[in-house]
Amino acid sequence: MFPGGAAQGVSLTQPNYEAFVRGRVAEVRQRIEAARMQSANRQAVTLVAVTKTHGPDAVVAAYNAGVLDVGENKVQEAESKMDVLEVPVRWHLIGHLQRNKAKSATRFDLVHSVDSPRLAQALNDAAQAANRVLDVLMQVNVSGEGSKSGIGVGDVASFAGMLHQCSHLRVTGVMTMAPFDAAEPVLRSVFSGARVAQEQLSAEGHPATVLSMGMSDDFEVAVQEGATLVRLGTVLFGHRA
Ligand SMILES: *Cc1c(COP(=O)(O)O)cnc(C)c1O
Repeated sequence: MFPGGAAQGVSLTQPNYEAFVRGRVAEVRQRIEAARMQSANRQAVTLVAVTKTHGPDAVVAAYNAGVLDVGENKVQEAESKMDVLEVPVRWHLIGHLQRNKAKSATRFDLVHSVDSPRLAQALNDAAQAANRVLDVLMQVNVSGEGSKSGIGVGDVASFAGMLHQCSHLRVTGVMTMAPFDAAEPVLRSVFSGARVAQEQLSAEGHPATVLSMGMSDDFEVAVQEGATLVRLGTVLFGHRA
């Protein structure tokens, strides 16, 4: 029941909670599959369960429902869960990262939020010090909203060139966020813009196979537009406190 012996943070309501999450995961997988059938390439789609604000039991419940990828938006909160869990999930850092936290970011399997050359340099230094190669995504701000982090679409090619100097980073794709509550045509243009950025990275010689886009309110459109990875919180675990 608890592979790796992860029983910490488990409450007496665990069986109900696990059943609840398992039901949500099953429903979401069906919705992903239906959307995938409406996509051009029928790409494989990885489900990342976003456990931010939820306790370690959410990670265990997701894992027991067959989800092998977990996303957190804050380094410290993620570390507090990593430290008490032994479930062999892949940890994704999906939130904005400050350069002074670059060292901790090397505990993750994929960092989605590389949004500036200075952050890339700090992560490269940290990965080198940890004697590893770190997989990262370039976060692209397709909509151009001032409130969103990410590199502008016009800067993707030059950033891609700079990233070749980061020998300890492997740039495996692009991450984007659509505007909150956007109409479907806007979502489609943002998501297809991210796909263009991914193609630019590939053209620049990066192994850019990942397209991280789609959250609880827009993941089906994202999958139709080519997402290979969706980041889902609310639809799996309910609303955050
Ligand atoms: C919180 C968060 C998500 C998940 O959002 P939901 O709407 O709850 O699915 C996805 N991506 C990022 C970057 C997030 O911060």
